[in-house]
Amino acid sequence: MLLSFLTAAVAAFVALDMVERLRHAAGLSRIWWLAGASAALGGGIWAMHFIAMLAFQLDVPIGFDGGLTAVSLITAICVVALGLWWVRAERGLSRLLPAGILVGTGIASMHYMGMAALLVPGRIAYRPEMFILSVVIAMVASSLALALAFRVRRLSHRLLAALVMAVAVSSMHYVGMAGLVITLDPVGPPSDGGLSRFLLALMVAAITYGLLLLALGASIADRRINAAAAREAEQLRLANRALEREVEERRRMELELEQARAALEQRVEERTRDLQDARLRAEAANRAKSEFLASMSHELRTPLNSIMGFAQLLLFNRVREPLTAKQERAATQIDKAGHLLLRLIDEVLDLARVEAGRMSLSMEAVDLSAVVADLVSAMQPAAQTARIAFHTAFDPSLPPVAADRTRLHQVLSNLVSNAVKYNREGGSVTIRAHVHEECIRLSVRDTGIGIPADRLAELFQPFNRLGREHGAIEGTGIGLTICKRLLEAMGSELRVETHEGWGSEFYFDLFPAAQAASPSGQGHSPRRLAAGHHFTMLYIEDNPANIELMQDVMAAVEGAELFVAPDPGSGLQMAVDTQPDIILLDINLPGMDGFEMLRRLRADPSTAAIPVLALSANAMPAQVEKGLAAGFLRYLTKPLDMEEFMGALSYALGERRQPPRPVKA
Ligand code: ADP
Repeated sequence: MLLSFLTAAVAAFVALDMVERLRHAAGLSRIWWLAGASAALGGGIWAMHFIAMLAFQLDVPIGFDGGLTAVSLITAICVVALGLWWVRAERGLSRLLPAGILVGTGIASMHYMGMAALLVPGRIAYRPEMFILSVVIAMVASSLALALAFRVRRLSHRLLAALVMAVAVSSMHYVGMAGLVITLDPVGPPSDGGLSRFLLALMVAAITYGLLLLALGASIADRRINAAAAREAEQLRLANRALEREVEERRRMELELEQARAALEQRVEERTRDLQDARLRAEAANRAKSEFLASMSHELRTPLNSIMGFAQLLLFNRVREPLTAKQERAATQIDKAGHLLLRLIDEVLDLARVEAGRMSLSMEAVDLSAVVADLVSAMQPAAQTARIAFHTAFDPSLPPVAADRTRLHQVLSNLVSNAVKYNREGGSVTIRAHVHEECIRLSVRDTGIGIPADRLAELFQPFNRLGREHGAIEGTGIGLTICKRLLEAMGSELRVETHEGWGSEFYFDLFPAAQAASPSGQGHSPRRLAAGHHFTMLYIEDNPANIELMQDVMAAVEGAELFVAPDPGSGLQMAVDTQPDIILLDINLPGMDGFEMLRRLRADPSTAAIPVLALSANAMPAQVEKGLAAGFLRYLTKPLDMEEFMGALSYALGERRQPPRPVKA
């Protein structure tokens, strides 16, 4: 009996252990665990029953029906399987109770089927109350055991549940046995057929060992599975760690990238700001430079006016006041040096303007033949002195070119002047224009000294005279730089071909103008005077040195009478009072500038028709243009150029008059 109980307990423990695994299993392994648990519990109950039957003592020989014994085993396993499947993972009362009832039914049906397999000589009956009690015990105890098994985790609890289950099975069995009533019948069928006790014992032992083996196998398999799962989990964990590290690394890199990007953006912003600041500073510096240059030009021109003016006056006046040969040379030298200095000032200013990009070009259709004829006639005297012949070679039917007329003239005159300067006695200068590709190529060729090949690279460097600074030929070394820049501004390029000792050819290309040449600017109609050789001029100027110079100049002009007003107020008054033929006006006057003076002279009908010439040290082209636009007949710049001044006077006096002549002695 004890052994039967123990067997039931062990089987129950194994079965509940498997049920525990069944609860956590999934898929196919669930079926296996269910099969294992059912086989363990069903088989255990069965083994318990028949061990107990081996302990059953009767005075008559008994046997066991093999078929029914086997059917009882299968029934036990199947019904238990049903019950366990029903409860499965859930442990609610609604599940546990039917499962307990099913398992209890399994135990009971196994028991009574096992009893049916008992072969005794006589009849077997059961006392109904004991039968019912045994079935109820089986159901209640099974439910309890399942409830316990599903509620707990710990081993001790599982042991307790197994014990409860064993109690359920055993008590069911023994209560059932207690209700057993055997009526022996000596004439009944013999009872020694079927399985003997020995065979039954063998079967029970086999089933029990089978159970143990099953449990062992399951636990080994489980351990294997667990180990594999653990390995897999470990691998997964490692992979996960690697992945995490990678993610971490990526995040770090992204952060770094983001930081770098932010830093870069900041740098770009700073640089942009710096650049803007630098540009503003450069613009301010440029403005300051231009202002400085303009004022420097003014400051230099004022004293130069006296220097050159008086030197020229000495020469102009030498008929009346003869000079010694030495004095004449000195005056000529002063005048020449003054001109050179003046050119230097002009060129430096020009270069500064070009370099600063502050030069405005007005592109128009320019007729080349007019420009070249003008040039040749201007250069003729210098060329004749050096016995240099001029040749022009171009087709008069060439179309006009697109250029800034003044600047083109400046470029060509610079090139021609160089071709004369750096020529040899008896040489020639050829100015050529011809169609080259879709452009018109202009070239100035000389038969002069040429440029050494090793110095060619320095050709367009400002102030670089390629070693000629020690020679007799005067120059500043800026002219070609300005030419190059001016041509670049017009979209062209100055190039040179030269052979030392043979000569040079400077050339550049210009596009033909799209439309015909525009009409030249309309001139002022000179005021025609009815008077004979006499004329009056009012000079409004505050600088005593300039006044003195002009007095001397006018004293040297035949028929000229000069009035001088030292300030704007008296100037306006004198203009009305004396009605001069010409008014010569300084621009920088105290209290009122020349422009305002001009406006007032024009506003007064009695002075409105008098031609007004400006004479100013403000010699920047923009100022000259402004002066002409304001209505000055001519805008003369200081230092005064005697020839230009005389030309302006004769222009103002009108065509009918002879140009002013020096006073005869
Ligand atoms: P400048 O003539 O005032 O010295 P340029 O800028 O016009 O200055 O010319 C720079 C230098 O190039 C000159 O000093 C001279 O050495 C050289 N050069 C210019 N034109 C010629 C030329 N036609 N033949 C030889 N050398 C020339």
